[in-house]
Amino acid sequence: MNLAEHEFIVIGAGIAGLAAAMALAQRRARVRVLEQASALGEVGAGIQVGPNGVAVLEALGLRDAAETCASLPPAIELHHFASERRVARIPLGRQCIARYGRPYWQFHRADLLALLEAGAREAGVTIETAARVADVETYGNRCRVTLECGATLLAEGVIAADGLRSGVRGRLFQGEAPSFTGHVAWRGLVDASRLPERLFPDGVNVYMGPRRHLVTYPLRHGALRNFVAVEERDDWAIEGWTEPDDPANLRAAFAGFGPRVKQLLEAVDETFLWGLFDHPPLPNWVNGTVALIGDACHPMLPFLAQGAGTGLEDAWVLAAELDVAKDLGQGLRAYEARRKPRATRIQRASLRNGRIYHLGPGIGTLAHLGLSAASAVAPSALLGRFDWLYGADVVSAQATL
Ligand SMILES: Cc1cc2nc3c(=O)[nH]c(=O)nc-3n(C[C@H](O)[C@H](O)[C@H](O)COP(=O)(O)OP(=O)(O)OC[C@H]3O[C@@H](n4cnc5c(N)ncnc54)[C@H](O)[C@@H]3O)c2cc1C
Repeated sequence: MNLAEHEFIVIGAGIAGLAAAMALAQRRARVRVLEQASALGEVGAGIQVGPNGVAVLEALGLRDAAETCASLPPAIELHHFASERRVARIPLGRQCIARYGRPYWQFHRADLLALLEAGAREAGVTIETAARVADVETYGNRCRVTLECGATLLAEGVIAADGLRSGVRGRLFQGEAPSFTGHVAWRGLVDASRLPERLFPDGVNVYMGPRRHLVTYPLRHGALRNFVAVEERDDWAIEGWTEPDDPANLRAAFAGFGPRVKQLLEAVDETFLWGLFDHPPLPNWVNGTVALIGDACHPMLPFLAQGAGTGLEDAWVLAAELDVAKDLGQGLRAYEARRKPRATRIQRASLRNGRIYHLGPGIGTLAHLGLSAASAVAPSALLGRFDWLYGADVVSAQATL
């Protein structure tokens, strides 16, 4: 179909929504993004984008801009929680580029959103903030979007990129209720000037303990340090990114960890706690001319750091399939058919990865020894375990990934 003759409303100016808007507008579609927040990118956090997501950023033309603000971790290092001894090293850096042709990038979330926002505006997208969508209805081959202020808008296609707690998913799609995984996670940022220099080895560092682990890496060329700290527990916390918690609770949960983690947590002034929920895959992502994208259709646990990458892949495939489809309905169905198997696989793998970090003492020691041996003998073999994930390239792939 000739996208220049079509108009779309995208609900949500997160990573998936902005990328989809940009990809559609680059194919000459008219796109309007509606975002409930009064400004974009307010909440700070680290976001990792593997080579599979980098492929999309490059195809959108954002490579040069991204290089100015992205960090390139040389490796992911796994450590014993108490001794802080290194158990395994998964090389990234140059080895990642050699293996997949692309780097592994880390961003401050606000920086990545700013890149996508600028790219989308340049491609001709209109972005409206303080525009909270209250309802979406489909009739015939059109959709009516009602804003909370009462205004109504019409469009041929609606792309719902309204995130984890998607209202569109709740209204127009059926699915099983999410279940608590028994994990909660704190996240936060620490000003690096408050920590001793070179406290942590370069790159991503994971400290693995009984029923808990902590991941930390630098952002903004070392000016900030990002952390995510996960604990297994029976009582659940609210699912969301913006629920504050007392840093004393975080320090108490990780009291048995070694001196590096202790120093990091001593410097935490503000932290957010979220309950990690498993969302069973949805039966459908498309209803008429409304399609879900990103966290709205496949919210995932953070253990593979693929929330952003999977949303970027969705965005590219959505625009590419619409570009070659006979009509809107066919294009949206092709998008769903091509994306659902892969997104479901990443969701499942993210759930499993969390368990690996938290094995009990006996099995945990064996797993540590296994990783240690594999890491010493063939470090690239550890990276090779992620070939299916990082090696996928939705930009050049024709077939279902
Ligand atoms: C504040 C925040 C912090 C995060 N922190 C991390 C992190 O530390 N690590 C990590 O791996 N992932 C994090 N994520 C998730 C990660 O960004 C996503 O997995 C990924 O980027 C997919 O993004 P998305 O665009 O699908 O959803 P989101 O990034 O959640 O974007 C959804 C957007 O839709 C908007 N929206 C929702 N409802 C409406 C409505 N009714 N009308 C209009 N707009 C609406 C929201 O305001 C939001 O801007 C975070 C997400 C958020 C929102």
